[in-house]
Amino acid sequence: MRCRRLLRFSFVDDWQLDSKKREGWLAFAFFVEPAGQLHIVQHAFAMKIVRSIPAMQRLATKWQREGLRVSFVPTMGFLHAGHLSLIKRAGKLAGKDGKVVVSLFVNPTQFGPNEDFSRYPRDFKKDVILCRSEGVDVLFAPTREKMYPNNSGGEFSTYVAEDKLSRTMEGASRPTHFRGVTTIVCKLFNIVRPTVAVFGAKDFQQAAIVKRMARDLNFPIKIVIAPIHREPDGLAMSSRNQFLTGDLRSQSVILWECIQYVRRRLGETAKPLPAARLKRAVEQLVEKVRAARLDYVEFFDPESLIAVRRVSRGTQMALAVFVGNTRLIDNCRL
Ligand code: AMP
Repeated sequence: MRCRRLLRFSFVDDWQLDSKKREGWLAFAFFVEPAGQLHIVQHAFAMKIVRSIPAMQRLATKWQREGLRVSFVPTMGFLHAGHLSLIKRAGKLAGKDGKVVVSLFVNPTQFGPNEDFSRYPRDFKKDVILCRSEGVDVLFAPTREKMYPNNSGGEFSTYVAEDKLSRTMEGASRPTHFRGVTTIVCKLFNIVRPTVAVFGAKDFQQAAIVKRMARDLNFPIKIVIAPIHREPDGLAMSSRNQFLTGDLRSQSVILWECIQYVRRRLGETAKPLPAARLKRAVEQLVEKVRAARLDYVEFFDPESLIAVRRVSRGTQMALAVFVGNTRLIDNCRL
């Protein structure tokens, strides 16, 4: 039973006991029936916060032995409604008896040297509250030291790299980014050992690469891709949106406007349109926005990610735009 309904008339508390000797948590829920009977439920409804890798692996082994479905949502935290839509989807995929695990780890290896790793937003307490309210069973939040022990000393030296889909777009703009993503996702899959993992279409290329990696490296994990969650004005939700202060926020709608513009152009004709012409039009639209600078816009096949010369319905569009210092990405199926 998920806790949200019960929390309204119960008190739940939990203690994080995540040392090597005592792994687990204590939880008590008190609730009173309309007839006045008091119930005390122990070890129920509480979300467990796991910080140690062996503790998470022991739990995963236990669940595997019990034959439970485990749905997994990897995140870098600072959760928003987009993340929560993935968690809800994971809950449905896990079913009544399954488990939902959310990981929270700002992965340093997917940030380039001049990127925003140190200023990436973090709010652990709020993330815990949000995960708990979504009925997450385990929040796995390892430290950097545990995931990459003594990395600067060169003790971590094994990386996983996808070699084809990762060459364009985000991979071209951020050369070491996907190597960091596939490495951390691979590590998390080995630690959490989920049955199913949910990724967002917001990071379309990332999701395609993870799917390819899972297939190529024989992970027995179903990869599910959930739709993009947007603000009412069309801006795709992102943890980085909080950097969009002042009028940067209104200017950031340019990504959605570019998508809408291309959709309109395609709607006006039954014929495919040259990708080069649409790219020039998008460049001009972005140039008109004072704080915006186009990094790339691409039109490609959604399966192979190979760029197309002629754009038609079913082509995938993706773009990256700096708004002030903040780099935003968006994409859609045309
Ligand atoms: P992040 O914390 O940014 O690494 O994102 C964790 C997961 O949430 C990734 O699979 C993202 O694609 C997904 N995600 C982030 N923003 C959104 C959004 N607006 N809609 C749907 N999924 C999202």
